[in-house]
Amino acid sequence: MTKISKICILGGGTAGWMTAAALSNKFKGLGLSIELVESDQIGTIGVGEATLPHIRFFNQALGIDEREFMKSTHATFKLGIEFCDWGQLGDHYVHPFGDYGFPVEELDFHQLWLRLKSGNKVPRLDEYSYPIVSAESGRFQLPGPDTNQIGSNFGYAYQFDSSLYAKFLRTYCERNGVIRTEGKVTSAVRDPGSGDIRAITLEDGREIEADLYVDCSGFRGVLIEQTLETGYDDWSQWLPCNRAIAVPSEARGQLLPYTRATARTAGWQWRIPLQHRTGNGHVYWNEFISDDEATAQLMSTLEGPALAEPKQLFFKTGRRRKFWNQNVICVGLSGGFLEPLESTSIHLIQEGVTALIELFPDAEINPLDRDEYNARMALNFERVRDFLLLHYVATQRDDSEMWRYFRNMELPDSLNEKIEAWITRGYLLKYEFGVFLPPSWIAVMLGQNLMPKGYDPRADRYSESQLLTEFARIQRETVGAVDKTPDQERFLAQYGAKTDTARLVADRADLRGQ
Ligand SMILES: Cc1cc2nc3c(=O)[nH]c(=O)nc-3n(C[C@H](O)[C@H](O)[C@H](O)COP(=O)(O)OP(=O)(O)OC[C@H]3O[C@@H](n4cnc5c(N)ncnc54)[C@H](O)[C@@H]3O)c2cc1C
Repeated sequence: MTKISKICILGGGTAGWMTAAALSNKFKGLGLSIELVESDQIGTIGVGEATLPHIRFFNQALGIDEREFMKSTHATFKLGIEFCDWGQLGDHYVHPFGDYGFPVEELDFHQLWLRLKSGNKVPRLDEYSYPIVSAESGRFQLPGPDTNQIGSNFGYAYQFDSSLYAKFLRTYCERNGVIRTEGKVTSAVRDPGSGDIRAITLEDGREIEADLYVDCSGFRGVLIEQTLETGYDDWSQWLPCNRAIAVPSEARGQLLPYTRATARTAGWQWRIPLQHRTGNGHVYWNEFISDDEATAQLMSTLEGPALAEPKQLFFKTGRRRKFWNQNVICVGLSGGFLEPLESTSIHLIQEGVTALIELFPDAEINPLDRDEYNARMALNFERVRDFLLLHYVATQRDDSEMWRYFRNMELPDSLNEKIEAWITRGYLLKYEFGVFLPPSWIAVMLGQNLMPKGYDPRADRYSESQLLTEFARIQRETVGAVDKTPDQERFLAQYGAKTDTARLVADRADLRGQ
């Protein structure tokens, strides 16, 4: 059995350095040489600030110290996402990283809540979620060790500066022996027999040979598309927003432990609080709003002065037809893009890298491994797509052409079935793969006013007074636990994750180009 001895990663954005970090860690001492090629002239996309809880496990597997990582990337904690104006104008809810209440015997908590809610006996489900109540009051602490306790039963993610994360990982990788080569790739040499890529050629004529290539070249897809012409499944009919304007602003007010996504007439706007600034952006469908209007809408809603000129980004939602083609695997934006509504892109990078490690080939690539990789990543993308689409279609808004478009849209079967099962009796069809678990679906469906018509009949096994006593206890204990939680700013300092003030000031000045 011949082993792969050299791997070349094309691209030094978040995807490239995450891939290099994970491979250099997992294959340490196994004779695998890793070279990463990136071009300063081209640069990185420069956005991508909000993440999902899984990134913690990625960092932990690399042995990264959480405090060091947070200080280096100006990170804040994230307990979920607040959605404003999605169901109806004036609505708001939080999609938390954690469960609601606790199951009673084998019955999900939300089923018992649905029963009590049908008699109007209980407040909103959110009152039984520690991460929601804590987020809404701007507080944060790490989950406690006992997962059966309120104040332990949740996850958290980070909001950070992704270019600083890439820089942080670069240092990690170079320590692990990854070679970084600066240069622009202009072409690739293919093996005439197999069609595999044998070498990539840089602008100055240098050639880099490897057994396996990971294309992390961003939207360009230099190897996977420009060279191999793999093809792209365009999902614009479902997720038609195709542009974004991003701008950082001075932070104002309390440092909130959550991201905000506010629906607009032709898209939506993000607000992501970091330690040194707030990230803002407007994602929109250019069919229904001009670039100037989209920019003006964003700029008029900033909470503090802008720290840089607004930056425009263009994209087409969808995914590469094959994530692994010949001896090239695409990870990151080269593999596809779904809008950043639920902060899933960095997570999909993590899924891609994890699957690559699990299916890491010998020099002779087994087509079955390749198929497995492609099927797994396709499923991951499709499930994220369905979840994102749910936000647009579970709406009562009809105040603009975009919202009317979504009200009349034909949904993918997979999403239709999921909504149908929920509406009938609050049941959630479960997936084997897919990042979003039932509490996430419950948050969005209830938050956007999709109330089930019935509930699981087993909820009637319990007496109403017994249930009300239990619900009152959970609500009381949730408030009690949140009262004891420090606000996020204080926790960051106590925990030792706050970036030095001098560094924050310098990085803010950097943004202003001073
Ligand atoms: C509007 C918007 C908002 C987003 N928000 C989030 C978010 O909140 N959370 C999240 O998880 N994700 C978000 N994302 C996605 C996130 O930005 C990306 O998934 C992430 O940054 C990874 O990008 P990348 O490394 O694939 O590509 P890039 O950052 O574009 O890096 C590409 C790399 O390839 C190199 N390269 C390209 N061509 C060549 C060449 N010919 N020769 C040599 N080098 C080359 C470049 O120099 C660069 O180093 C957002 C994306 C957009 C568009």
